[in-house]
Amino acid sequence: MTRPAIVLLSREPGMRALVQRALRRRYEQDYQVRVHGDVASLRETLGQLRADETPVALLMVGYGEEEPDGLSVLESLEVDRTALRVTVVRWGDWSAARPIFDAIGMGLVDRWITVPELETDEEFHRTVSEFLDDAASRRGTSFEAVRLVGHRWDGRTQHLRDLFDRNHIPTGFYDAATPDGRAVLLGAGVQDPTFPVVLLHFRRDATVLQNPTDIQIADAFGLFEPFGEEEEFDLTIVGAGPAGLGAAVYAASEGLRTIVLETEAVGGQAGTSSLIRNYLGFPSGISGSRLAFRAYEQAWTFGARFHFMRAATGLARSGDHLSVRLSDHSSVRSAAVIVATGAAYRRLGVPELETLTGRGVFYGATVSEAPAMRGQQVYVAGGGNSAGQAAVHLARYAEHVTILVRRPTLAETMSEYLIKEIDAAPNITVRPRTEVVGGTGTEFVESLRLRDVGTGAEEEVPGVLFVLIGAEPRSHWLGDDVAKDRRGYVLTGDAAPHEPGLPTPALLETSVPGVFAAGDVRHGSVKRVASAVGEGALAVSLVQPHLGWLRARR
Ligand SMILES: Cc1cc2nc3c(=O)[nH]c(=O)nc-3n(C[C@H](O)[C@H](O)[C@H](O)COP(=O)(O)OP(=O)(O)OC[C@H]3O[C@@H](n4cnc5c(N)ncnc54)[C@H](O)[C@@H]3O)c2cc1C
Repeated sequence: MTRPAIVLLSREPGMRALVQRALRRRYEQDYQVRVHGDVASLRETLGQLRADETPVALLMVGYGEEEPDGLSVLESLEVDRTALRVTVVRWGDWSAARPIFDAIGMGLVDRWITVPELETDEEFHRTVSEFLDDAASRRGTSFEAVRLVGHRWDGRTQHLRDLFDRNHIPTGFYDAATPDGRAVLLGAGVQDPTFPVVLLHFRRDATVLQNPTDIQIADAFGLFEPFGEEEEFDLTIVGAGPAGLGAAVYAASEGLRTIVLETEAVGGQAGTSSLIRNYLGFPSGISGSRLAFRAYEQAWTFGARFHFMRAATGLARSGDHLSVRLSDHSSVRSAAVIVATGAAYRRLGVPELETLTGRGVFYGATVSEAPAMRGQQVYVAGGGNSAGQAAVHLARYAEHVTILVRRPTLAETMSEYLIKEIDAAPNITVRPRTEVVGGTGTEFVESLRLRDVGTGAEEEVPGVLFVLIGAEPRSHWLGDDVAKDRRGYVLTGDAAPHEPGLPTPALLETSVPGVFAAGDVRHGSVKRVASAVGEGALAVSLVQPHLGWLRARR
């Protein structure tokens, strides 16, 4: 197998020697390390790697007093879109910081790193390893714990690809219509299957599942840890997005017997984000799924139990106990519940496009679909941050991305740093005052009908559509006892009604005593990762007095 390349350019001999030594010692086994002291020979190497179809994982270029044009050189180099563009600086060169952050903000540079001054600089290597991991996931992983064979544009197949991806399960996808797909089935001895087929390659018995339900998959993975009917937890957290994970870490670390229920994947909406740039502590950003996975490990290490691929379907109270019903007809008993079920994408409501969902019309960022957009004309409907991030991510692969917004500009709905990044991207344009009103296609979307909201003029364009037009709270499962606003967001604190004789609900407490809400599902929430995490932690601090109150009553 071709080893991907790590390519370094530094015209400062001291910097070049230090970085080269560190890279060669640690990474030469798995990567081709190419080092250059001048731009011309570097360009030659990049051309040669392209001709040999050798992927570039990292393109690292020195920047500082002795090479002040480092950033513009890095921006000007032609390299695979899956490569990470990294600028290398000396520690203490503060004047470099502003231009670097601006270049990152514009999407011209991906990351920065400081020169390893010591012979073994573990901080440098930790950062390089993270970069390599990001680059590897941009290219697609090659270790396949699971093989999925199905029809590329089948909705269920796509759902599973997305689910495995977001749950960090290394998965190889094989289109059933290709020779590779047929070979995988033949190798597993599967004839006339019902698609999609899931092969659990990591298990000794190489389990084969045909068109499995989520629950069957969870069981086959060994993710389901049954609990007894009589088992009771201090706290049930419903949803493992940022709010649920935030709550899980704090609850478990404070010794509460905690169970987390999640119907899809850890990370929730944040887990679908390719890069979260505004979360505390990650100056060059972190992918949503990586952040979520770390939080999951942290909560698990503290002792929180997780129950995956089962949805909460109802909530009941009997005396001091709360009981959450699950989609497999079991239920979980606890003294308190935190509702952290977040929000889901609003549908477009165009019937001819609804039938093409998953076949050229996608809801949300669907990170796993991005590489399939190579060479395509892509349209992103929506003017919020999630639409902006999706556009930037898709532009790495697509020929061109057009953002469709009903308003005249993005200014009111999108963060400034994203607007700048979009302005700077050569293959993204914004089309204001435009909505999608129709489309054609049978197997796959063929065209989209766009309407100018001012003039009413319509135009038919070929292209793929990603819809990110806002979200609706996932609170329907709660029934009527838990009070909600008219859009379905859960009311808490002063806004929540309460039974006469009972104390006023605490800050994040709902109209049902002992049931709290945190994150996007809550009326008045801020819709940010950090605030969802914070609300999760805050809700736990309110659970503690509730448990004390229950104990005092017994
Ligand atoms: C593409 C994208 C990019 C974003 N980028 C940023 C960013 O850069 N910075 C930022 O601050 N914010 C960003 N956001 C917003 C941020 O992700 C959300 O505000 C945050 O995820 C909300 O967290 P939450 O836990 O409240 O809800 P969610 O993230 O929605 O998580 C809810 C979880 O509950 C689960 N669930 C739902 N119903 C049930 C049920 N009945 N039973 C069991 N489980 C259930 C869901 O599967 C989900 O995992 C982005 C959002 C998107 C979509």
